[in-house]
Amino acid sequence: MYELITHEEKCHGCGNCVVACPVNADIDPAVAGGKGPETDEVIMRVENGVVKILNRDMCRGCGTCIESCPVDAIELKVNYR
Ligand code: SF4
Ligand code: SF4
Repeated sequence: MYELITHEEKCHGCGNCVVACPVNADIDPAVAGGKGPETDEVIMRVENGVVKILNRDMCRGCGTCIESCPVDAIELKVNYR
């Protein structure tokens, strides 16, 4: 199981992670086109200048969002059960 964690105190709301996430792009065509999501069914989006996780359980653990974040505000924990 993967657990997506964001450090909101580091985030400056650039939205790179939101657009880079392949799950977000699959869910919302606006994201696939490089824009912000138009639905709250995505994993995360920027709200009030800060990234907010909406649907953590949908994360596949690919790590793309981590690579895209310029300030290391995203972490992925792997929980072995
Ligand atoms: S790890 Fe992959 S699937 Fe999970 S939020 Fe980041 S980009 Fe999306
Ligand atoms: S890429 Fe990093 S700084 Fe940009 S919105 Fe996502 S968490 Fe915040």
